[in-house]
Amino acid sequence: MADKQLQISGLELSQWRDTAISAAVSANVSKTEVDWLLQEIAGLDRLSLRLGSFKDRSQIQLKLPLQELSILWQQRLNESLPVQYITKVACWRHFNITVSQSVLIPRPETESLIDLAIAATADKPTIREGHWADLGTGSGIIALGLCHAFSNAKIHAVDFSSEALAVARLNADNYSLSNRIVFYQGSWWEPLDFLKGEFSGMVSNPPYIPTSTLSELQPEVFKHEPHLALDGGNDGLECIRHLIETSSDYLKPGGIWLVEMMMGQAPRVTQMLRDRGTYSKIEIHCDLAGIERFALAYKS
Ligand code: GLN
Repeated sequence: MADKQLQISGLELSQWRDTAISAAVSANVSKTEVDWLLQEIAGLDRLSLRLGSFKDRSQIQLKLPLQELSILWQQRLNESLPVQYITKVACWRHFNITVSQSVLIPRPETESLIDLAIAATADKPTIREGHWADLGTGSGIIALGLCHAFSNAKIHAVDFSSEALAVARLNADNYSLSNRIVFYQGSWWEPLDFLKGEFSGMVSNPPYIPTSTLSELQPEVFKHEPHLALDGGNDGLECIRHLIETSSDYLKPGGIWLVEMMMGQAPRVTQMLRDRGTYSKIEIHCDLAGIERFALAYKS
């Protein structure tokens, strides 16, 4: 039987929306967030929200009781709770990704990692097959993206957080990709010791924010997103340094090393890759905002 608490008239929902929009305006939050929320929670499309035509519907099914939604919306406004942690979904490439506060909300810039992996292997069919690692998988987005890009690859996704892995597994299940991705709890390459020297590629969005600047991030990020996924240690480069140090033992010759990093880190990452002496053809790529965001290298 349908839960009465989850049913509401279009008129009532429209009144709720008007109140939520004025509260957003007073709190300096973009009013479009109200509609993102209602698309997910009330299953409304953008057009009916824009035209207000949902108002005429006698009944709308909600995913959460309106009272609960009101409390969460207050948290959005007063405590900077990201709206994606209310709806528990985020869009990334063509995927609808489930998120929780144990994982970062997928960022649009991270989408380019998959395009870079595709471009870097365009003339290397054997590298596209075989074993690929997504280290620090979080919600599992990179693993999912790699599965989609490389239909004959086996993906190994590692995370230190078992809560994050539960989210990543759910996302893989939702796209029927569980047979293509193996998940491991552990630190970076550690659980993959048995495949040393056999990887075609490694793709990672590791934590890269210097500890001392974490508190300068937007409050949505600093107060609600997992610091385990953000904090890159003293200089922000601790995890990237570790990945440079260790990955050449795991990659096969010609294998791809590809990471996301922060604005300003490219020169030091390039230097560290050179100094390691086991990588060739080091390249820096920009994100869509023109920021040097990605480092790519090949195992010599
Ligand atoms: N790009 C994220 C941010 O700006 C940080 C992600 C990361 O540290 N890998 O908040």
